[in-house]
Amino acid sequence: MDDETRELVRLYALQNAVEHEDDADVGAVIGTLMGEHPELREKAEEISDEAPRVVASVNEMSADERRATLEDEAPEMLEEDEQEEDDSLPELPNADEYEEIVMRFAPNPNGPPTIGSARGMVVNDEYVREYDGTLVMRFDDTDPVNKRPLREAYFWYLEDGEWLGMEAHETYRASDRLETYYENARSLIEEGSAYVCDCPADDFSELKAEGKPCPHRDRGVDENLEAWDEMRDEATDTVLRVKTEIEHDNPAIRDWVAFRVVDVDAHPHPLTGDEYRVWPMLDFQSAVDDHLMGTTHIIRGKDLRDSEERQKYVYDAFGWDYPEVLHWGRISVEEYGTLSTSSLAEAIENGEYEGWEDPRVPTVRALRRRGIHGDALRDALLELGVSESDIEFSMEHVYSANRALVDDEANRYFFVRNPVRVEVEDTPEDETVARPPLHPDDDRGEREIEVGNEIYLEADDIPEEGERLRLKSLYNVEVVSTDPPVVRHIGDDLSLVRDEGVSVVHWASALDDETVEATLRTPSGDYTGVVENGAVEEEENVVQFERVGFARVETAEPFVAFFAHR
Ligand SMILES: [Zn+2]
Repeated sequence: MDDETRELVRLYALQNAVEHEDDADVGAVIGTLMGEHPELREKAEEISDEAPRVVASVNEMSADERRATLEDEAPEMLEEDEQEEDDSLPELPNADEYEEIVMRFAPNPNGPPTIGSARGMVVNDEYVREYDGTLVMRFDDTDPVNKRPLREAYFWYLEDGEWLGMEAHETYRASDRLETYYENARSLIEEGSAYVCDCPADDFSELKAEGKPCPHRDRGVDENLEAWDEMRDEATDTVLRVKTEIEHDNPAIRDWVAFRVVDVDAHPHPLTGDEYRVWPMLDFQSAVDDHLMGTTHIIRGKDLRDSEERQKYVYDAFGWDYPEVLHWGRISVEEYGTLSTSSLAEAIENGEYEGWEDPRVPTVRALRRRGIHGDALRDALLELGVSESDIEFSMEHVYSANRALVDDEANRYFFVRNPVRVEVEDTPEDETVARPPLHPDDDRGEREIEVGNEIYLEADDIPEEGERLRLKSLYNVEVVSTDPPVVRHIGDDLSLVRDEGVSVVHWASALDDETVEATLRTPSGDYTGVVENGAVEEEENVVQFERVGFARVETAEPFVAFFAHR
């Protein structure tokens, strides 16, 4: 067995051991090796003879040593294997009982997708991909009063969904389907399972709390149908109720409201205007749609168990089978807290935020604007899996995935926050040009920055008088005075950094042509500063401001960048 093959056996043995957190198995190692390197099959005999010795040497290492070695020598083998473990979602219950898996993502478009909605998009999408099923995108836009849909948000969902790699096979808007809901309401009345109730809301609540029926509960079918047909002309207290058990242990289940009358003159629907006055409640609308659209599996918040129980009365009345349900816990994002779409809308309305793409808000659009890749968010969210426990999610997961994606593409520049103009004494006689690389590890070339006898430094980077600094890719200086700020050129010896631990800082040239004023917008507020001129060419690209972090350049003039992460 040649050295190269021996090395491969060793790596696969390490991978096998790390993956199973146990000693490597010779048979499995050889199997993987032959599978991925078919050219070695002709040496199978030789390999089978010698592999056990190589595998045994790996098995003599401790678990930590094996992981560390693999990480060091072939990190790609480690990552692959970790991802496989993390990405696997739990199996869908009873999947094999259905000819085709149909799932849906059903947002209310009353704002753009947040990180929470992104989770719904990618997890449903991932399941449908795994099971080769159908994904339905359904806008549950039936509340023009309390969760009024935004016209633009329909488009935002489609666009952000695409950015996240979601592929919806069918798209519906509930507001297009009112006639369908009306037909089903009629059928439910005919089944004797729903009644029109004219009780003032407070009166009904009192009766409900005592488990007592209201006078309308015993209306006959014909009387109900007539009342239903006239409902659109009624005052706003009139509702259609689903007949459950008025003494049900859980008051939330007792004769719940399926339809109500909306004052559409005061609250026109953004798509249908004042065309319809009678609107279904979400529990009814989504129950009917889930059935009609053939939904086999639903993922929903565990706090919506009451909804499910309410909806089952409709399913029972019609003889429908309720879809399989997976529940999941709430997700709160450490960096943002628990902001609902409605409270965000309010804060935007009040001018606290600039809009839905403000870098401080947890919307998908804001993340896109900051230079986050859809894959980074998707992968981080899939890793959470589906479980009933509440999850505190840290954006760090997204950031580290994103860092791996943008590091290669991002050119490097100097951005100086809160810049202080500093005089440089004893500058070299010749004109000084700094040539820092555009990117540390390839031959993308150099930037060229002309430097005179003044530079910009970050206020926090200027040390005490007498201390020394390395100006990155330029030269070394010693602080002559801090007020006014003056430094002195002291040569270009890199051993100052290597041997004496002098800090390296970024800087900007104070020559007019070399530097532009810049704003860096971050989740914790805006920074103003100066950026080297070259960054102006990077409109819409992700760059790395050295020692500051990655950012996406939004506009060149004026120069505005959105901070992604460190
Ligand atoms: Zn009543």
